[in-house]
Order: sequence, then structure tokens, then C-alpha cells
Amino acid sequence: MNFELTPEQQLLKDTVREFALTRVAPAAAGLDREARFPYELVAEMAELGLMGIPIPEEYGGAGADTVSYAIAIEELTRIDSSVAITVAAHTSLGTMPIYLYGTEEQKQEWLPRLASGEGLAAFGLTEPNAGSDAGATSTRAELRDGQWIVNGAKMFITNAGTDISACVTITARTGDDEISNFIVPNGTPGYEISAPMHKLGWRASDTRELSFHDCAVPEGNLLGKPGKGFHQFLEILDGGRISVAAMGVGLAQGAYDLALAYSKERRQFGKPISDFQAVQFALADMSTEIDAGRALVQRAAWLKDEGKPFALAAAQAKLYTGLLSNRAANAALQIHGGYGFMDEFAISRLYRDQKILEIGEGTNEVQRMVIAKLLGL
Ligand SMILES: Cc1cc2nc3c(=O)[nH]c(=O)nc-3n(C[C@H](O)[C@H](O)[C@H](O)COP(=O)(O)OP(=O)(O)OC[C@H]3O[C@@H](n4cnc5c(N)ncnc54)[C@H](O)[C@@H]3O)c2cc1C
Repeated sequence: MNFELTPEQQLLKDTVREFALTRVAPAAAGLDREARFPYELVAEMAELGLMGIPIPEEYGGAGADTVSYAIAIEELTRIDSSVAITVAAHTSLGTMPIYLYGTEEQKQEWLPRLASGEGLAAFGLTEPNAGSDAGATSTRAELRDGQWIVNGAKMFITNAGTDISACVTITARTGDDEISNFIVPNGTPGYEISAPMHKLGWRASDTRELSFHDCAVPEGNLLGKPGKGFHQFLEILDGGRISVAAMGVGLAQGAYDLALAYSKERRQFGKPISDFQAVQFALADMSTEIDAGRALVQRAAWLKDEGKPFALAAAQAKLYTGLLSNRAANAALQIHGGYGFMDEFAISRLYRDQKILEIGEGTNEVQRMVIAKLLGL
């Protein structure tokens, strides 16, 4: 087995690390405090080719593998989750359905804009009454005179309402037992987007409620085959879980970095607190679990790149890194003592940003349900 990154993967890792340290780190606390979407950083990431990492070059992406993509998301989250989720939701949730299920015409129309980062894509699955039970979608689309008329609502949708949001891909019921996918461009009459939602964490990322009132979408915006929508979105979630799992590793690594540095600076009882075995053990546990989590994420990404079944590995990685990031953020804040509870210390932001990693893209309980099913239970 070869655990080494390829030269291309290493180069991307170094590039994203440098960008995160020099550009994201100085801005992250301010963006979080003001709940301000990071437009400048998104433009810079677009320049670096980070807004379409796994999309082939012929459609304007970087044409890199899933392992590279996971590494990039990990390195961004190590510094700031809001920036990382903006890239992850845009890439694996918003853009990927168009790449995987779109017609050649749809790909030509959308992918170059999205993969270049000129426009942002969103993914609308969750509804007010259909969360974990995503198949309970009640949004409807009816074909009338060559147009799909969409009515319904979506909840907690990332990237839908920024100044550069281009479209949302949604699930909608096209019959009693039939769910299909549609591309709804921003600006379509009848597609309404709420004000940004106020959140515990991911405060600089864009989260909205969407509503559709007799929203007329061209017939050609059906994505994939009619009736295949739910299955398609479940497949998208399998891939998306790798990026959220990468966020779990990145957040845990970032928390560890902060705790390690602080433990060497902070002195109590006449010595740095890193001299106390209790603190050393907490850091030793964190570093061990982070390595285990990273191995799970990279295995899932590698399986996907090899064209092998990866759904089980992705759900295991997502579940483990959700729990791991929770433990790591908690232990890292503990090492900061009271200072960790203050906004001036980055660990307090990482602590708030962590919880959603156990909820979004399927809660811990949903991951266990997916894993149990794939184990044949
Ligand atoms: C900041 C943020 C961004 C998001 N971005 C997006 C996005 O871009 N697109 C999108 O479509 N969605 C998005 N979501 C939605 C997210 O995926 C859902 O919140 C998540 O799937 C859980 O659904 P829910 O919130 O309705 O919780 P519920 O499904 O109501 O779950 C509530 C609790 O019940 C538990 N539960 C439910 N069913 C079972 C069961 N059968 N067995 C055991 N326990 C169960 C859950 O695990 C959970 O603990 C986002 C959410 C947030 C908060």
C-alpha cells in the first residue's frame, strides 16, 4: 500500500494550506462576527481553481481526483468552516448533479460558469417537514404547456441566496410515487429566497429558506430521467459525505493545532501546561483519532476514484469524523481554559462550527442507519 500523496495532490495541499493561512485566517473571525459571506475569498479561490476541483477540465474544472478534493476541503476547514462549506456545498452538492446527470447541453450551459466560480450552485433536498426522511418531499412539479410549474418549499439551503448564486438543483414530486430533479435558475419568477438565517456556527456561509409559488421552469431543466430524482440525490449524498467527513478531519486538526500551540504558551504552576501529563494525553488522543479519521476519509475518496463501491466507507468516515471533531473541539477548548470561551480565541469559533458536522448531510443517526443497511441488516 502507498500512503504517500502524489506530487499533484501534495501541490494542491500546499497551495490550499498557504491560501488558508495567509488569506482566510486573518479574515475568518471578522466574517464570522458580522455573518458576512466571503465574496473576496470565493473570488480568490476561483482564481486558484478551487471552485471546480473534481469537474473535468473540458467543463472548466481542475479535473482532479476525489482524494485531492477531500484534501483541499480538509485544509480549508482546518482554518475556517464557513469558507470550506461554501466550496463543498457548491462542488459536491450543487454542481455534481449537473455533471453526473445533466445532458450535454445542460453541462455546457452550467458547468463552465459553476466550475470557474463565476456562479455558485446550491442543492435543495431538505424541506420543513422532510429532513432525515428526505423521501417525504412535498414540493411538486407539474408539466404544463412545456414548462414545469414548481410549488413548495426547501429549508436550510446553503449558497442559494448570495449575489453570485446561479441556480439550485431541487427534488420535486412529479407524481404520487415519483420524485424528479430540476435546475432552477436564480431570478426565475416565483422562486423566492428568504433573508439569511441566523446560526450558531458556519455564520459566514449562506443559509436560506426557499419557496416556489407557481414557479415556471423550462421543460429542459429536468435533470436526469423523470422518477429517478430521489435515487440520484441519494447518490449525490454518498459523494457529499466524503467532503463533510473531510471537514470533520480538518476541524479536528485545526482544533488540535490551536490547542498544541496554546499549551506551549500558557504557564501555570511555574511551567507550560503542555508539561502536564493530562494535557499531553488529551493531545495524544486527538492526534491518534485525527490520523484514523483521515485514513477513513482518504479510503472513501480513493474507492470512489477507483470506481469501486464507496457508500459504506463514506458513511463510516462521515460518522466517525463527526464524533471525532466533537471530541477534538471539546478537548481543545478545555486546554484553553476560560480563554477558549472568549470570542478572541479561534477555538471558540471552531467549537461552534463543529456541531453541524453531526447533523448536515445526514445526522449521526442517519449515518448509522445507512451503515447498518449496507451491512445487510
Ligand atoms: C447550516 C445548515 C446547512 C444545510 N445545508 C443544506 C443544503 O444545502 N441542502 C439541503 O438539502 N439541506 C441542508 N441542510 C439540512 C440538513 O441536511 C438537515 O438539517 C439534516 O438532514 C437533518 O434534518 P432535520 O434538520 O429536519 O432533522 P430531523 O430529520 O427532524 O431529525 C431530528 C432528530 O431526529 C433524529 N431522527 C430522525 N429520524 C430518525 C430515525 N429514523 N431514527 C433515529 N433518529 C432519527 C435525527 O437523527 C435528529 O437527531 C442544512 C442544515 C443546516 C443546519
